[in-house]
Amino acid sequence: MNTSNKSYTGIDCFRMIAALFIIAIHTSPLGTYSEWGDFILTRVIARVAVPFFFMTSGFFLISRYSCNADRLCAFARKTALIYGAAVLLYLPINMYNGYFKMENLLPNIIQDIVFDGTLYHLWYLPASLAGGVIAWILVRKLGFRRAFVVAVILYLMGLFGDSYYGLGKQVPVLGGFYTLWFQVSDYTRNGIFFAPVFLVLGGWIADCQTHLRQVTAWSMCIVMLLSMLAEGMVLHYFQLQRHDSMYLSLVPCVYFLFQALLHFRGKRHAWLRDVSLLVYIIHPMMIVAIRLAAKVLHLQTLLVKNSLVHFVAVVVTSVSFSVAAAAFWQRFGRRKKEWNQGADRAYIEINLDNLTHNVQVLRGAMPAKCELMAVVKAQAYGHGMYEIATHLDRIGVRAFAAATIDEGIALRRFGVRGEILVLGCTLPERASELHRYGLSQTLSDYDYACRLNAQGVPVKAHIKLDTGMHRLGFWVPVEKDADKNADKEMQKLSRVFHMKYLNINGIYTHLCAADSPDEEDVLFTRQQIARFYKVVNRLKKQGIHIPKTHIQSSYGFLNYPELKCSYVRAGIALYGVLSTPDAQTRLHLDLRPVLALKAHIVLVRNIKEGESVGYGRMFTADRDSRIAIVSIGYADGIPRILSGQGQQVLLGGQPAPVVGRICMDQLAVDVTGIEHVYVGMTVTLIGRDGDQEITAPAVAAQADTITNELLSCRGTRVVVTCCSYC
Ligand SMILES: *Cc1c(COP(=O)(O)O)cnc(C)c1O
Repeated sequence: MNTSNKSYTGIDCFRMIAALFIIAIHTSPLGTYSEWGDFILTRVIARVAVPFFFMTSGFFLISRYSCNADRLCAFARKTALIYGAAVLLYLPINMYNGYFKMENLLPNIIQDIVFDGTLYHLWYLPASLAGGVIAWILVRKLGFRRAFVVAVILYLMGLFGDSYYGLGKQVPVLGGFYTLWFQVSDYTRNGIFFAPVFLVLGGWIADCQTHLRQVTAWSMCIVMLLSMLAEGMVLHYFQLQRHDSMYLSLVPCVYFLFQALLHFRGKRHAWLRDVSLLVYIIHPMMIVAIRLAAKVLHLQTLLVKNSLVHFVAVVVTSVSFSVAAAAFWQRFGRRKKEWNQGADRAYIEINLDNLTHNVQVLRGAMPAKCELMAVVKAQAYGHGMYEIATHLDRIGVRAFAAATIDEGIALRRFGVRGEILVLGCTLPERASELHRYGLSQTLSDYDYACRLNAQGVPVKAHIKLDTGMHRLGFWVPVEKDADKNADKEMQKLSRVFHMKYLNINGIYTHLCAADSPDEEDVLFTRQQIARFYKVVNRLKKQGIHIPKTHIQSSYGFLNYPELKCSYVRAGIALYGVLSTPDAQTRLHLDLRPVLALKAHIVLVRNIKEGESVGYGRMFTADRDSRIAIVSIGYADGIPRILSGQGQQVLLGGQPAPVVGRICMDQLAVDVTGIEHVYVGMTVTLIGRDGDQEITAPAVAAQADTITNELLSCRGTRVVVTCCSYC
């Protein structure tokens, strides 16, 4: 799936229109011609611009896919930097205007920096910073619904201090509040009252998979615009306004506008983001410049007095300057940091396109009505649970399996929806957390089910049957066991279905030899499957409604694809690899590896024949050699047992052997005879480089283990980065 041509073109382009609206607000293009026209354009229509910017920030910042504190910090830092630069940029104009001559200078400066902006338009930057933080915290703590309610209340408080002030000041307590507030700041349209509702809504829209139909969105947007016009006119007529940034209809109006714009998908125009922001920041400068130029050239009548020409002149100069500045920055500015922090040492690269591909291939091979349950335990087998799970959620996977309740909670905090099954045992005392996060708990035996039920908290659960693995699960003897306990066990099992607080929505088992093609193992596996269905059928006979069933993990599916279950619990196959390099499976699927493991060369040195490298002098050069030290070791998941086995890595598309004992944080590679080896060079330990590839199963086999262990033992220092379109 290529999503690069599915960017939000509509939103990118409207940023530009919104920037022009802002210029209109500050230049009143229709002022010379019609008072009403000017009112409608600048006091009503153009008022959607700033909320639109807030909503866009929310859309990209607050959504479930980015509910990540790093993103918020990056946003805050960037906004603060831009704000700082803009404040400095406008210092000369402030000085010219006599800003520093005012009374109570210090309190005023603080007030301006925190709320009002040091020049009239700059309030937007601190507002976006404060609003971003407030909205983010609200959503994180309360969820979207309640965060929205709080944000609406804040907005209403702002509204009655803004365009409804005539009413607001008459309400007893509120009036007092405003008197106080206006000592602190000149307005209520700021990051506390104004911005959060749009930011929260933006995130909420990003969160919903279903969007309004385009016709609906446009019609509602127009209706709301008309309603805003009526609102504006009435407020204006009764002179209730203290300021005119906030209307009741503004919130739904921008909401529908945003929904409508979402339908325009196509090429990405990220540069419009920079240009529109620049236009926003510098247009007051251009207004001053044009007035100055008009004075010098004696063109005031044309350039300043005629509002439309004045507007056009400001637009042309602001846009040209911004485009030029953005182009200059693109060309000569600091390159965007390519990797996350820490990726300069050792990192894994996740290919989300391959993950999507694997999901499609697995789903394609599954019987109708069978769903994929993505197993994302142990940091998604070392791939990074956040990156993997949010991507799967985004592409429509609606069932997940985690090993522990804490992994399940983490998934919910990332915003993952749908079924989340906890495969392991959870302390019954944590039942309320299972309930709160909507997790399904595996019931591993009758005693456990009783203890969980006894907590008196409703919990969703899947019953696990032991069909021969003898790990977790109810053991229910079937005919051949000729066990006199058979009926008793069966009764216990059916009793679980009737336990008051357990809501059984699944029943499953796990196969323990499904990877083996040996005749005996196949026979054993078939017995496991038969045993599962025997128990299920008995339950059915007792009139119990059978919930969702699932049996197969990756190998179970690849070797027994004919089973018709509700879920396939795919782990290792989802990540595009199998446990061993020589795995034989009945189903052959085109699965692609999702993970690559890389590090960097930190030092290159020459050693003489006879000199040794590393602990224990395990490697001694039998010729003059060139050794590269690579920043990855066994604490990063490279098994120490690979030392001295001639394990290869790739650099510049060529293989080179690891030499000497692998250390905790470093290893050495013999690069003798390889050209262009340099400090900072990327070294691939798993993955592809040029036409060479080192596969995870091959490395695992060399280390005497399986891919599952190798990958899930990735050290915590190894940073996850995403390649492909993200
Ligand atoms: C880990 C696990 C899986 C996934 O196994 P793979 O072989 O990686 O697909 C499925 N079911 C259970 C119960 C598991 O513990």
